[in-house]
Amino acid sequence: MTSILWLRRDLRLHDHPALVAAHEAAQGSDGRVLPLFVADPTLLASAGPARLAALHEALTELDEAYDGALVVRRGRPQEVVPALAAELGAGSVHVSAETTPYGRRRDAAVADALDPGIALVPTGSPYAVTPGRVLTGAGEPYQVFTPFSRAWREHGWRRPAEVPTGLRWHEGVAGDERPGTTADEGAADGAATDRVGERSALERWSEVLDRGLEHYGEERDRPDLDGTSRLSAQLKYGTIHPRTLLAEVAAHPSGRSTGATTFVTELAWREFYADVLWHRPSSAWSDLRPGLSALEYDDPGDPAVARSVEAWRTGRTGYPFVDAGMRQLQATGWMHNRLRMVTASFLVKDLHVWWVHGARHFLEHLRDGDIASNNHGWQWVAGTGTDAAPYFRVFNPVLQGERFDPQGDYVRRWVPELRHLAGAAVHQPWKRSDGYAHGYPERVVDHAAERAETLRRYGVTRD
Ligand code: FAD
Repeated sequence: MTSILWLRRDLRLHDHPALVAAHEAAQGSDGRVLPLFVADPTLLASAGPARLAALHEALTELDEAYDGALVVRRGRPQEVVPALAAELGAGSVHVSAETTPYGRRRDAAVADALDPGIALVPTGSPYAVTPGRVLTGAGEPYQVFTPFSRAWREHGWRRPAEVPTGLRWHEGVAGDERPGTTADEGAADGAATDRVGERSALERWSEVLDRGLEHYGEERDRPDLDGTSRLSAQLKYGTIHPRTLLAEVAAHPSGRSTGATTFVTELAWREFYADVLWHRPSSAWSDLRPGLSALEYDDPGDPAVARSVEAWRTGRTGYPFVDAGMRQLQATGWMHNRLRMVTASFLVKDLHVWWVHGARHFLEHLRDGDIASNNHGWQWVAGTGTDAAPYFRVFNPVLQGERFDPQGDYVRRWVPELRHLAGAAVHQPWKRSDGYAHGYPERVVDHAAERAETLRRYGVTRD
């Protein structure tokens, strides 16, 4: 009997427990595995061109790894999956468990729609530890990152799964075209993007390991350096599994360095946010901490606010470090973590716009756009999330630039109008007589004044 492997955030061959389960189910009845990707209109509508390009690339590499057997079908999963199962007389449908609010609803609907006798079988998940598993001694979810990460490490994870031997694909099933376009068509100005796909992920990961993780702790904060793994879009689409990364870090000569420990901690943030979303699905689009829900925001529908927001989106706020980040996002569909924090802070705390507006913009443009990491990352910055007392944390865009882009190379790379300014002078063009000589815009707000305004508003909320 055929088993269907319905792929979603697990677009890879290696370390794939659901593939192993599909193979075992098929093998028991001398059958084959049919790998299926459903181009779900709901998900496609929520992804911008950059994310669709990443998806297209990942599916292309997956099809190569699966010897051309991958079948893409367009439509609602609750119709497509049962119809294909009936067409093939499949015995079971195998998935990696989905943990987002939409994914959970969708999977429940598919399980209901399958003929009686055909099970939807979840095996593994996109995480080292499936969300919901790490609980306090009292059986409660963790609210704060540090104790979660400690318990997560103590919980531990399985070894990577082997590619099954004797795997036989079910071939010759008709499908639809792959969704998305290539990165060149999707990227705003054709700037180089990291290709997404299992082969590319493994190549990039071996580059990271060749370099070693010893310096990751210091370099990860420097957007002017190639100091991070840039694997986020790969993890998003599951072209590489975090368990593979964790196993290889542990076995690597640099695996005991503080840099490697920091890298594992970053992976733990991804797991933490997925866990928070698992327990509190409503935190995707509303404040996790209701204490700040009375906070006064400016209306982005107001024309003056809309102008500033547009300057933020297009990288024309007049603050070079912020603008460099927003332009990197626009051009490549990826932004360095430091810049995600600084640009998010600018929208929420300098322009006083509710984080939800920024989170939507990021999800539309990021190739790694992930509802748990993105929306909780935004809430962390906004002070409405899992952190204890961050309302006073207002990033200063100039000091951040001077500290994390000390020579100004990152800004010059993304903001051509400032390339004539040498060194760190690039962070304050207003101090130079020729600062605006090449059309760089003036500041849309005064940071010091807006910081004071934010603290006033947060103070009011806390009283
Ligand atoms: P590395 O430094 O190499 O880290 C390795 C991996 O750890 C990353 O690929 C990622 O999976 C995980 N990770 C690292 N930092 C974080 C973090 N702070 N939170 C959660 N996971 C982390 N990450 C996304 O994957 N998708 C998003 O949509 C997303 N949106 C964000 C929005 C905001 C406002 C903020 C502040 C952060 C956001 N992040 C998001 C987290 C982080 O910025 C990216 O994961 C990271 O920049 C990706 O680059 P990298 O792969 O080189 O990371």
